[in-house]
Amino acid sequence: MTNSTALLPIYDFSHALNANYLNKIIPLLTQHQIAANPINYAIFYDYVSELNPALNSAVSRLLSQNAAFDCETSLGLYGNFISNAPLKSFDTIQQKIHKVIRQATDAINDTCHKAEQTNDSFRKKSAILEKKPEIATTQSILQEIILETKSLAATSYAMQMQLNQAKSEMEELRNELIQVRQMAVTDGLTGLLNRRAFDQTLHEIIEQPIGESTCLSLLDIDHFKRINDTFGHTIGDNVIKFVASLLKKHAEQHHHVARYGGEELAIIMPNTPKRKAIEIAENIRLDMENSRLKRKTDNATLGQITLSVGIAELQADDNPESFITRADTALYQAKESGRNRVMH
Ligand code: GH3
Ligand code: MG
Ligand code: MG
Repeated sequence: MTNSTALLPIYDFSHALNANYLNKIIPLLTQHQIAANPINYAIFYDYVSELNPALNSAVSRLLSQNAAFDCETSLGLYGNFISNAPLKSFDTIQQKIHKVIRQATDAINDTCHKAEQTNDSFRKKSAILEKKPEIATTQSILQEIILETKSLAATSYAMQMQLNQAKSEMEELRNELIQVRQMAVTDGLTGLLNRRAFDQTLHEIIEQPIGESTCLSLLDIDHFKRINDTFGHTIGDNVIKFVASLLKKHAEQHHHVARYGGEELAIIMPNTPKRKAIEIAENIRLDMENSRLKRKTDNATLGQITLSVGIAELQADDNPESFITRADTALYQAKESGRNRVMH
């Protein structure tokens, strides 16, 4: 029971937010004639909340192809994008750890049991020897002692082997755990931090800011829908990957670069003055403006692609929501005033 609970996705329980999602989900399901069952609701819940970019991409693709959301499609989406794959792997690793511990404990118990038996037997033999038995009896006791000692040595050698194996299996499992932990915070498409890791990092940094100034940049690809519509979703995905690489290139080592939503990326910049945040955003914007991406298959140009950026600086009374809202408002102003610009 505990295991299946651990596999559930983590949802936000605030009423207003969920009511807002509900108001978006129902019309979408109706418009696309999709059955409003719990599986489809979960899929479209993640879709409208934009918390799960990989799912959004897959759903957008299906919607644009007018594909039927039949049982197989829905279960496929749910299994692949919602039922929390990293946690599933985590459960498997836990089961493996239990198995290794059980095997090692069995080997230790076997050896202890054998040692107790031998100890018992030696104590009895010693009592006989104290009574100075005949030479033949002494000889046979000696022979038994040699055999029992050999047998105990063999058991303890088997235990040593088992413990060595347990040690190397534990090391392998430790590496697997590191990978799963990494997967749980990574966005599959871009390799950046995913939205949940972004939320967590922002929360931690606001709780304990480092240095005098913390900034947040939200970057959104301009007219991205056109790129998808003209060249298809796969090329759209590649454009998102390219933009992610620009953010990685220009952000500093101690910055946290994340995929905030579909084609919206973010940089959390602790210990960074606003002028530095603006400079980095300008460099990314210019780099994008000057890049001429091409379709691999026929070298056709995708045309000029641009970015809009909103920057906010953390204030003493900020919480994550107010901080994000200020960056988002600046981003909105960048869009409103003509796109391809940085506002703060
Ligand atoms: P604006 O300049 O105002 O930002 O316009 P826009 O077209 O970029 O904005 P809009 O929000 O209307 O469209 C964003 C689109 O991004 C809609 C959605 O289908 C698409 N999208 C979201 N996530 C992904 C993804 O992972 N891959 C692809 N290829 N498309 C995505
Ligand atoms: Mg956009
Ligand atoms: Mg957007």
